[in-house]
Amino acid sequence: MQHGVDEVKRRNCLLDIYIDVNLERYFSVLSNDADPFFIVNMSGKLAYVNKHCELLLKCPKIELEKLFLNDLFSPTFIDESQSFFHQKSRDKLINFDSKITLKSREFMDVNVTAFPILFDKEVVGNYVVLEDITMIKRERELLAEKQAVAGQLAAGIAHEIRNPITAIKGFLQLIMSEYTGDMMYFKVVESEINRIEGILKELMILAKPNQTHYEEVNIHVLLEQVLALMESQALLYNVEVEKKYRFTDETIIGDQNQLKQVFINYIKNAIEAMPNGGSLFIEGSYSDISWVQIRVIDQGGGIPSDIIGRIHEPFFTTKESGTGLGMSVSYQIIEEHKGKVKIMSNTQGTCVEVQLPMVT
Ligand code: ADP
Ligand code: MG
Repeated sequence: MQHGVDEVKRRNCLLDIYIDVNLERYFSVLSNDADPFFIVNMSGKLAYVNKHCELLLKCPKIELEKLFLNDLFSPTFIDESQSFFHQKSRDKLINFDSKITLKSREFMDVNVTAFPILFDKEVVGNYVVLEDITMIKRERELLAEKQAVAGQLAAGIAHEIRNPITAIKGFLQLIMSEYTGDMMYFKVVESEINRIEGILKELMILAKPNQTHYEEVNIHVLLEQVLALMESQALLYNVEVEKKYRFTDETIIGDQNQLKQVFINYIKNAIEAMPNGGSLFIEGSYSDISWVQIRVIDQGGGIPSDIIGRIHEPFFTTKESGTGLGMSVSYQIIEEHKGKVKIMSNTQGTCVEVQLPMVT
């Protein structure tokens, strides 16, 4: 909704009063010890810029306070989000990533949080808080690049190995069916071939994340199915599974098999982290109306802080016979499901928290 010229002017006047009134009392406090922020009026002009913002953008306040949003952000961003700043009805906080473009040159990647300023119950402008994410973004891009390379490599290898393995497995079964002696060695060979096939399957996910079948999935049911699969392994390690669900019938949109793979990977790691047994907690809840949250918590030795940044890298493993694919494949799947993964770990144990957008 666009406002008439007079209406915009009236609100801009109100905002100026708001800024004057608050300048001494609040902004000085905010400016000294807070995030970089500015205030934008209903015309999209920067009406107030704090000290941290000046420093972040390396541009004096008086110059910045002449600018409009269009001068500051890349045009692609502003087309999408500009309407937010003019809408009276939007009373929510918004958060998005963007690029600062100063003096028509790309300057830095930022995360933007904007929320409206109310004056007498009317929206008269917006606070816009900036966070420099240039480094974070570069790290993310590097990781993505690495994953893409690893993915291509994996695809090549998996493809080359899959066909001969299929042939070997087929003939092995043929020989087995005719053999009348002790089957022990055959069984070992067969189970090792199955293991190779399992690894190949993981590699294929890493390489070809697009072969997905999305449908509505009841997350509670899915977790139960996964736990049924993992029970025997937990038993083997003397691990007791404790479930704490706060679900009713929440569903998400996703690929059943891929999501199962995610939780199998996390639960497998949790079990493997407790070679002498312990408790494995599976918690399921919804954090608010839009997210379901699943936690896999173990009482293992934790992930040392010097490697925690690397566990999502493909092929990174600290285990003698590990593949180093569980974490990276899971991360990739969750990303594709527009979810988030958070890892918290200390010497008492590890918590892997997955959040997925809920069907509302
Ligand atoms: P793998 O299990 O084959 O080693 P993953 O990708 O599943 O590969 O995990 C990578 C690494 O992350 C593991 O080798 C381990 O060092 C660490 N890790 C993952 N989950 C846990 C956990 N729950 N507790 C301790 N370390 C973990
Ligand atoms: Mg693993």
